[in-house]
Amino acid sequence: MTNISELKQRHKVVIMGSGPAGLTAALYTARANLEPVVFEGLEAGGQLTLTTDVENFPGFPDGVMGPDLMNAMRQQALRFGAKSVMAEITAVDFSKRPFKITIGDTVLEADTFIISSGASARMLGLESEKSLLGYGVSTCATCDGFFFKDKELLVIGGGDSAVEEAVFLTKFASKVSIVHRRDQLRASKIVQDRAFKNEKLGFIWDSEVEEILGSKETGVTGAKLKNTKTGEVTVKEADGVFVAIGHNPNTELFKGQLEMDEVGYLITKSGSTETNVPGVFAAGDVQDNIYRQAITAAGTGCMSAIDAERFLEEHAE
Ligand code: NAP
Repeated sequence: MTNISELKQRHKVVIMGSGPAGLTAALYTARANLEPVVFEGLEAGGQLTLTTDVENFPGFPDGVMGPDLMNAMRQQALRFGAKSVMAEITAVDFSKRPFKITIGDTVLEADTFIISSGASARMLGLESEKSLLGYGVSTCATCDGFFFKDKELLVIGGGDSAVEEAVFLTKFASKVSIVHRRDQLRASKIVQDRAFKNEKLGFIWDSEVEEILGSKETGVTGAKLKNTKTGEVTVKEADGVFVAIGHNPNTELFKGQLEMDEVGYLITKSGSTETNVPGVFAAGDVQDNIYRQAITAAGTGCMSAIDAERFLEEHAE
């Protein structure tokens, strides 16, 4: 790790975010002698650090632990001269080159900027969800599942994340119920099949969470569910609620400077990682609301590095 005070003022490549996209961009730009600086951000290593077994990253026939994979990616980038800084970028100014990058009290300059800040868990937006977060409400089954041994759990959502997390939680919990607002899952077929075969897993269809019940003292005790077809409200007892309803891209910093879609995903030019600002590139989940896999993030991270390298060649001073 590099301390921010050790950094020089101007950099050829600054990378924001340290998931598979950011670290692959770092590896490629480091091997091109561009001495990239990676600002790791609040979730160093990205979403894979919140998972256990990764079974679908090519090259690991027996699977690999998410944190181990990310650590290996970081070591590989550092080996070729990338610098990794444990700090969060707080502001950017893309109005002219070199771009101005603010990290607290420090302002650095960057000739190119690669955004790989990923996406963060979406929340239901309930007051009770906010107040009980960490007291029985969680967004990360792999982080918190262990604490719910022999307990009853609810998992909210119907996508791959919700179903995979629910299956994972059955390793600990006595019973897991997936609460989904429709009567059909969005999750892929293979994930669904696994879930339907799991005897500890149940489904509460056509239902939305109106309120999560409990207190900081008691922890979660259940949830008030509303049937979306009949309007009927029921109380389902549970010891924990896992919210797994997707993610929001981390693009708050770029509002007004970069083009994004209505959800906030950065828009890149077709077949490239270039944003609407020449010299600013986006890779990984921050610009991908379709695939969002570690391998696709790494792939676009590689693309962004090659795009940045070409841009620097074309704009050599
Ligand atoms: P997702 O596919 O967007 O699914 C989100 C789910 O949450 C949907 O079922 C949605 O309901 C529900 N939802 C959204 N907002 C809600 C709200 N306010 N209240 C109640 N329910 C709400 O997100 P994801 O499951 O995180 O998956 C994201 C991407 O990562 C997908 O492309 C997925 O394939 C991929 N992924 C892959 C794997 C894997 O390959 N092993 C694992 C995890 C994720 P509706 O269905 O009604 O819209």
